[in-house]
Amino acid sequence: MKVFAAAFGTETNTFSAWPTGRRDFEEAGVSRGQARLDPDRMESMVLGRFEDLARADGYAFSEGLLAFAHPSGPTLQSVYESYRDEILAMLTSEGPFDIVLLLLHGAMVSTECDDCEGDLIRRIRAVVGPQAAIGAELDPHCHLTPMMVENADALVLMKEYPHDDFIPAADALYDICARKARGEVKPASAVFDCRMVGFYPTTAEPMAGLLRQMREAERRPGVLSVSFAHGFPWGDTPETGSKVLVIADDDPALAKEVAQEIGLAIYDRRDALLPRYPDIETALDIAARCDGLCVLADTADNPGGGAPSDNTSLLRAMLDRDLDNAAIGPIWDPIAAGVCAGAGVGARFALRLGGKSGPTSADPLDLLATVKAIAPNHAQTGLGGSSDPLGLTVWVQVGRGVDVVISSIRTQGFHADLFTGLGIDLTGRRTVGVKSSHHFHTGFAPIADQIVSVATPGAIGMDFASLAYRRKRDGDFHPRVADPLNRDLNRDAKPHTPSN
Ligand SMILES: [Zn+2]
Repeated sequence: MKVFAAAFGTETNTFSAWPTGRRDFEEAGVSRGQARLDPDRMESMVLGRFEDLARADGYAFSEGLLAFAHPSGPTLQSVYESYRDEILAMLTSEGPFDIVLLLLHGAMVSTECDDCEGDLIRRIRAVVGPQAAIGAELDPHCHLTPMMVENADALVLMKEYPHDDFIPAADALYDICARKARGEVKPASAVFDCRMVGFYPTTAEPMAGLLRQMREAERRPGVLSVSFAHGFPWGDTPETGSKVLVIADDDPALAKEVAQEIGLAIYDRRDALLPRYPDIETALDIAARCDGLCVLADTADNPGGGAPSDNTSLLRAMLDRDLDNAAIGPIWDPIAAGVCAGAGVGARFALRLGGKSGPTSADPLDLLATVKAIAPNHAQTGLGGSSDPLGLTVWVQVGRGVDVVISSIRTQGFHADLFTGLGIDLTGRRTVGVKSSHHFHTGFAPIADQIVSVATPGAIGMDFASLAYRRKRDGDFHPRVADPLNRDLNRDAKPHTPSN
């Protein structure tokens, strides 16, 4: 048995004007057959896991491309095609393969293709033929498209948000694909479209309970996998939205039944699932009342969703309140980071910070800043214990006592060591702002007395009903309409049950 694995993707914010080019993939690191040289990277950990599992079964293993870019605007077509064709060429030249394992994102849009993953999997199927097992691990913030589902044997999504379960998802995918290749199972997939656009952290109810329900359904005889595609609201494609995917063993009817059951359970909680976050001033009032450390998530300027991460609104409000004992980061501003690094530790000067990328960045702040620390290659703990680089990073102190982390790589705040690794002691702090929608939760919950997700102004606001979709197929999704599946209507109609 011969196994091939590759990792390729990005999460495309189609509302972002910044194209994703080759440099964006290379900044994060592109490797070919050498993922293990960067063993702490999340994508490397998954490819390494596939290799360990394959070798434990005595199978030959070939590793192809690893290329993942930070979320931004559509990927340039030529860049998408060159990486795609590189994967296809290796499958051709080193094949035939019995099992193809992919780590994709699932929300990659190029300048000419709404569904890059569907296109990639369809072309892989054409190369490896109908007998080979093709499986892909996806981020739950994907657009689950018919082309992806029809051309793969198994799509397994990470279940948790924060996505700390990428290794268990890799294990589940490998298991289904290896059993399919050995002829032990015949995966049959079904999708239920919830007709919702939403945001679903799994660390709190009601999503935590729905996740338990999914895991219970997975233990039923014949059910191989249950996934919930949250969807990526800021990627405008025909298939954008929340969907449930179930894989059953040679039983399409069972897959369909369970997908509908879980899908409707999610749908029936749609109003409770809608994020309702306080604005900045209300959040700062909450922080002022908090007896301890209050972490404020700058949700709309999360670079993990393609936002610039240089919006100054939360920092400005902290300074307007003359806060001390406060910190915020990472603000992406490579120019400011370079100026501070050049000035050196201890330098105090007028720094123009943030607000540079565009209209969703708010205005730059002109601040008297003191450089406290410089790290040429700072990194923080990322998802699932992986490492997430921040590049040249500086700590500056501004205002009465606000410590700001300025990074050169545009990445969200995952872990408190983004601050403490520079020497910022968070002990006794009152207010800490983090550029992240929810992935910060794993790394900050242990030190936070309170966590507040804030409805900040920025590129990825959560007023889903008002998103300016042009490509999305169904305009009548929740929350734009209250009950797109007409469930409440049907419930009212129940007394009219026909009698024989
Ligand atoms: Zn995600």
